[in-house]
Amino acid sequence: RQTGEFLEVNDAAVNKYGYSREQFLKMKVLELHPDERLDDLVENALVVAGIQPREICHSTKDGRQIEVRVMAQSIDFAGRQAEMMIIEDISERRRLEEQLRQSQKMEAVGTLAGGIAHDFNNLLTVISGYSQVILERTLGDEQLTREVQQIESASNRAISLIRQLLAYSRRQMLQPQVLNLEQVVAGVEKLLHRLIGEHIELVTRSTAGIGWVKADPGQMEQVLVNLAVNARDAMENIRGGARLVFELQNIHLGEDFKRDHPDARPGEYVMLAVTDNGCGMNAETQAHIFEPFFTTKSGRGTGLGLATVYGIVKQSGGHITVNSLEGRGTTFRIFLPRVEAPMHASSKSGVHDASMLLSGNETLLLVEDDDGLRALARKILVRQGYTVLETARSSQAEQVCRDHDGVIHLLLTDVVMPGVGGKELSEKLSLLRPEMQTLFISGYNDDLVSRHGVGEVTNFLQKPFTPGSLSQKVRQVLDQATARQS
Ligand code: ADP
Ligand code: MG
Repeated sequence: RQTGEFLEVNDAAVNKYGYSREQFLKMKVLELHPDERLDDLVENALVVAGIQPREICHSTKDGRQIEVRVMAQSIDFAGRQAEMMIIEDISERRRLEEQLRQSQKMEAVGTLAGGIAHDFNNLLTVISGYSQVILERTLGDEQLTREVQQIESASNRAISLIRQLLAYSRRQMLQPQVLNLEQVVAGVEKLLHRLIGEHIELVTRSTAGIGWVKADPGQMEQVLVNLAVNARDAMENIRGGARLVFELQNIHLGEDFKRDHPDARPGEYVMLAVTDNGCGMNAETQAHIFEPFFTTKSGRGTGLGLATVYGIVKQSGGHITVNSLEGRGTTFRIFLPRVEAPMHASSKSGVHDASMLLSGNETLLLVEDDDGLRALARKILVRQGYTVLETARSSQAEQVCRDHDGVIHLLLTDVVMPGVGGKELSEKLSLLRPEMQTLFISGYNDDLVSRHGVGEVTNFLQKPFTPGSLSQKVRQVLDQATARQS
């Protein structure tokens, strides 16, 4: 007690701290403390410790710091007054707690962002939809056309911001396909060149036989673009030799990866590494980069780039890590689970022939609780020649079905509504009208995804829709049904 010397240590202490027993017995307890305030420590460690367990840091022989919980008890040892210290390593627990806190934070921010984005999505769909409707009537009036175009372009900018938020909160409907990331990278290479500028060397590398992954190709492009733009910003002040490298590789993730990513399933993955030799980041910055609105580019950044990337990667069942050294550069690594090769080479679904006839004379039932959105959809569809029955409440849809005499070809329904949701409504009504097709409209995907699994939903229209995308999708669903019947 007076000297703070070690009188005895057990094997666990020898293993944990890395000192041999002989070394320990020549040391003092203070040598385990990384802190410099030795006076304080003597007080705390030797006098007060007896009463309450304390959580402090110790350093090991090789200089690592471990967080420990110390309980001490005064005893007599070989005729001397001593403290028996029982020390528990709690670093692992601390790390897990921190991880949990981090993921809860991301979850909460995501819920908040998603809620806001959902409401704005509806509003913006109405604003941009009507400005397109008005634009068609302003022909000949140049000034008015320009003014309405301003409204349209402003709302389109807002829509693209909202889309990023939706992607972050993982509520955007993905349209995943089995795809080869090499092709996706090759497809945007030109665009990236233009984006980052000629002064940055762009290198793409991949090992032979890169596996297939299941992801939304459009979203993957978004990921590449966001990472490239950040890299460009980070390399702004580099004089010569700026380099951005995209690298693809098959990789096996084992239990060691799971340590830092508890939700990771061990198995086969395709890894995309994006490396720049820019300014890099310190640890403090790295801890926040995936949060929406976190930016170090005051005034220039939105802070949504990496949040979007994070959301997309997570929603595709993947993981993302970052390695960075200040002044040296940064590597982002994205891991996506490998899937079986597709049966036949990718058929390009969802691409529309411009000459496709978008009008029709079928009867549609529109169920959408948002009044503005419903009015807009009706307006667009009526203009294309359709007969439109409508209701704001899913509970009334059945009655509308019974009251109508003729055929109803298509149910257009929101997915998330008060009361009966779109999915259930579609099932209920199909008992009444088995011939009726369903087209789901939503900005959310929670519902569809949890019931069908990502990728199974094809009759789906993403909000915000445009007059064009709505007419196209309606026509497509109706034509597919006709093709199946004949
Ligand atoms: P923004 O680019 O609008 O600031 P992001 O979400 O894309 O928002 O990035 C957040 C922050 O992460 C950036 O402000 C920057 O500090 C940091 N960052 C992202 N990518 C890199 C990179 N490649 N090198 C250095 N810092 C980066
Ligand atoms: Mg960015």
